[in-house]
Amino acid sequence: MAEAIYPVPADWAETALIDEARYLDMHRRSVEEPDAFWAEEAQRIDWIKPFTKVKNTSFHEEDFGIRWFEDGTLNLSANCLDRHLAERGDTVAILWEPDSPQDPSRAITYRELHADVCRLANLLLARGVQRGDRVTIYLPMVPEAAVAMLACARIGAIHSIVFAGFSPDALAGRIQDCDSRVVLTADEGLRGGKRVPLKKNVDEALTHCPAVATVVVLARTGADVAMQDGRDLRWAEAVAAQSAECAPAEMNAEDPLFILYTSGSTGKPKGVLHTTGGYSVWASMTHQYVFDYRPGQIYWCAADIGWVTGHSYVVYGPLANGATTVMFEGVPNFPDPSRFWQVVDKFGVEIFYGAPTALRALMREGDDWVHKTSRKSLRLLGSVGEPINPEAWEWYHKVVGEGRCPIVDTWWQTETGGAMITPLPGATALKPGSASKPMFGVQPALLDNDGLVLDGATDGCLVIGDSWPGQMRTVWGDHERFFQTYFTTFKGWYFTGDGCRRDEDGYYWITGRIDDVINVSGHRMGTAEIESALVAHAKVAEAAVVGMPHAIKGQGIYAYVTCNAEVEPDEALRRELVAWVRHEIGPIATPDVIQFAPGLPKTRSGKIMRRILRKIAENDLGSLGDTSTLADPSVVDNLIANRPVLA
Ligand code: ATP
Ligand code: MG
Repeated sequence: MAEAIYPVPADWAETALIDEARYLDMHRRSVEEPDAFWAEEAQRIDWIKPFTKVKNTSFHEEDFGIRWFEDGTLNLSANCLDRHLAERGDTVAILWEPDSPQDPSRAITYRELHADVCRLANLLLARGVQRGDRVTIYLPMVPEAAVAMLACARIGAIHSIVFAGFSPDALAGRIQDCDSRVVLTADEGLRGGKRVPLKKNVDEALTHCPAVATVVVLARTGADVAMQDGRDLRWAEAVAAQSAECAPAEMNAEDPLFILYTSGSTGKPKGVLHTTGGYSVWASMTHQYVFDYRPGQIYWCAADIGWVTGHSYVVYGPLANGATTVMFEGVPNFPDPSRFWQVVDKFGVEIFYGAPTALRALMREGDDWVHKTSRKSLRLLGSVGEPINPEAWEWYHKVVGEGRCPIVDTWWQTETGGAMITPLPGATALKPGSASKPMFGVQPALLDNDGLVLDGATDGCLVIGDSWPGQMRTVWGDHERFFQTYFTTFKGWYFTGDGCRRDEDGYYWITGRIDDVINVSGHRMGTAEIESALVAHAKVAEAAVVGMPHAIKGQGIYAYVTCNAEVEPDEALRRELVAWVRHEIGPIATPDVIQFAPGLPKTRSGKIMRRILRKIAENDLGSLGDTSTLADPSVVDNLIANRPVLA
């Protein structure tokens, strides 16, 4: 397939914060003189006590450690709120859109947000929460979720957000793992018109968590929920009694800010720990540069706060930069597939950041839903969470952005705190499907299985050569697991777990997880490429590819395919798709099995759980592993029931 290239539009090259020359110069400096570079970038944050040391990091066993700005002190809540009050206290900080378009939206100014945060912070203090204590947040996408995060940050409590929608078991496991004594939740959540019984889930979870002494319950739907005397408080009543002033705690740069359990696509979730100083600098800097953010612009990241993208790019990055951040409670296809673009029109959104899974779902419904809306305010689009198939990229670019909006395809991980490999809209020519170039301070490398560094255009294991400020600092309660997981596969490198290709222009293309690489007759193939070929077929909406045992080839290719809304899959289509992939990639990529699937098992953040698909393909149904983070567990039963009989 010929690769398309979209040069930087002339107006972007001229007016963007960072053009190509500046990118190259800044990246060089960030690598050659990290102390000077980061000392300067860190000035975007207000420090209480300025740091004198910048970088003190090693990935080697002898002196392993990651410390940034280690003798500085700051408070991130103050950086997101207090410092904006004088200049933009009346600017809208959070623009909230509810699940149903019939219900009123809310606009919360920086001044109002500051008061709400202080009240909740005072309530937490009154309930005995101290610096370093863990607070579990199990809230839907409502402004109070951001208030909860900022209130914790204000008093130095460590928040742990659990997706509202995770089961009581998954919630209990996460409360126990970090031993939190306080849970912030709501009576019910509302998503796509459906009610989620949050308080009921909490009650069930807490039968296994006797140490929890406080549950604060927000009235979202007003449902009648059980309240346990002494333990459960009604949010509105409880905060009303508190003062709207609360002095921000002076935190050390390396004090923990939050724990976030990874989404679990590959195994048991890990409690990823981020600290205060480096994360603040990283979230603010990447938000500004990646989105070319200017004060006054309306910015919307459609991720849930239960995901790291919601942490860095709905809340901390934008608020540290004084932005107006849109928060959306609902889903892309409720009440209909125009919803995203209607919200764009309603608020005049200029920057929109979403996930490939949502885009593919919308693409499947046809272009009319998009065409019905204006979208003229849009100037930049973003993608995150999975490789975006070139087909979906082109659709996003042409149909949603009408060819005028650059797309920033940002590769990163819960562990990295913020965008690591990404285009900058004024600096990077775009190649659909490629996350393109490293962010400042990021030194990617590709290694072979023996740890040998590969040069030039090649395929390999993606590693990072040196620390960056937003890097995770440990796995909560298990520092050894942190070191083992990320720094022992390739000694001296941070191992991402992802496979990647670098082309002759130095662009990086994520090919999927290393664990998912398929080896057919000695040829190694990433899943992303075969999936992209399938999705490029006019009748296919989504595809997931895994390896299966094969007597002759070692591994065979097993493809799960979801068709477009109006397509009725049959044997003829199955044969057509096999021929199509052979033609698009080559005979080596010929799928051995195609199973048509109405839905694929996904995490709540929309990622396909290939681990489970692999087990089904191997017919190893006894060991599906942890499925607690699945958005819809019934999908798995359907896949098992409809597994084709193999010869
Ligand atoms: P777990 O680590 O628990 O298995 P997870 O890796 O899905 O879960 P995240 O940290 O949310 O949890 O996801 C990071 C991963 O998502 C990356 O390692 C990569 O595989 C994928 N990813 C994210 N953004 C992109 C992107 N723009 N292009 C390609 N892949 C991406
Ligand atoms: Mg991961």
